[in-house]
Amino acid sequence: MIHNGIEFDTYFKNYPDENGYFGKYGGVYITPELKAAMEEITEAYFTICKSSKFISELRKIRKEFQGRPTPISYLERLSGKLGNVQIYVKREDLNHTGAHKLNHCMGEGLLAKYMGKKKIIAETGAGQHGVALATAAAYFGLECDIYMGAVDIKKQAPNVSRMKILGANVIEVTHGLATLKEAVDAAFEAYAKDYKNCIYCIGSVLGPHPFPMMVRDFQSVVGIEAREQFLSMTGELPDAVVACVGGGSNAMGMFSGFLNDPVDIYGVEPLGRGPALGDHAASLTYGTEGIMHGFNSIMLKDENGEAAPVYSVSSGLDYPSSGPEHAFLHDLGRVKYDVIDDDEAIDAFFTLAKLEGIIPALESAHAVAYAMKLAKTMSHGSILVNLSGRGDKDMDYVIEKYGIR
Ligand SMILES: *Cc1c(COP(=O)(O)O)cnc(C)c1O
Repeated sequence: MIHNGIEFDTYFKNYPDENGYFGKYGGVYITPELKAAMEEITEAYFTICKSSKFISELRKIRKEFQGRPTPISYLERLSGKLGNVQIYVKREDLNHTGAHKLNHCMGEGLLAKYMGKKKIIAETGAGQHGVALATAAAYFGLECDIYMGAVDIKKQAPNVSRMKILGANVIEVTHGLATLKEAVDAAFEAYAKDYKNCIYCIGSVLGPHPFPMMVRDFQSVVGIEAREQFLSMTGELPDAVVACVGGGSNAMGMFSGFLNDPVDIYGVEPLGRGPALGDHAASLTYGTEGIMHGFNSIMLKDENGEAAPVYSVSSGLDYPSSGPEHAFLHDLGRVKYDVIDDDEAIDAFFTLAKLEGIIPALESAHAVAYAMKLAKTMSHGSILVNLSGRGDKDMDYVIEKYGIR
């Protein structure tokens, strides 16, 4: 399929290019020392991802440890309420640890093992990435240092306990605002000091090359499974595919399976409290081109051109940029990016729970809310939603803030 001059048959051969660019987005904007570390990871990944031993080991892990393939469920009662459109969800909530994140963390852990690294280093905000990575580290017998802001440690007590039970060291970062940004800085600093023994693991399709490519590749299992499953369930492809976009890993995993198909693709960003800067995290919808955290993409900036403060009811979506591949697909028009606000997401959270017996993560509830809106604009057809994770982590917060709806 050709869209805007881009051949999607050969898309994955051409993007990213050898310097890690998707069009003008991506690249490696870091210190020379860290650049050397990224080059080592890139080289190792290109060798290892072609090795049949690596591929078969990852396949075995997917099946026997993660519980893949995750199913697709048809949402009969929700579809019935919305008219003549059939809604399906890919159940990443049923992946081990309850979300899609383990798909790339197990890949990163296996890569670390093949590279002979002893330790995994990362930062975490809400703790979801930290928990998935601590799980992978335990599985592979690697040490795991997770940097976390003191403020987030207080807010995310259950995830801190999970990481500790899994054997990770949770390292408290107390300087500055003591949240995610400071944790990123501290983790990078530690990594630069000891990159011979360690690997830095990024939690989405973000950061310097090769991470946007590598995390997409590890998540592509979602799109590959979903396409096959949907075809065998219905005999057709879906008319539309929908996923929420924070950094963009669950979305890239799902979208990569359908880029070369005549399928409409929608990425859903969090509109939070509304369109004023600081009230949302819809970077592709409202942002402009800029460099942060080692890559060029579309980002939300404050008056000084720095990353702007962002907000969303779902902590997994509140990041001031998105992966460079999303910026590229946005400019190409191959994927349409749109927004869902807090209230719409909360409404979808309760609707899915009450009608279908599935409590979604608040992140995933954004995608469900968008599918519900989209269905009302279609006379017939089908929509496949990536249900990126389960909502157990969000229940207490939702009940405290919104009560039972
Ligand atoms: C972290 C998270 C997200 C957002 O991350 P992406 O990289 O945009 O996928 C979405 N859903 C769940 C359940 C998450 O934990």
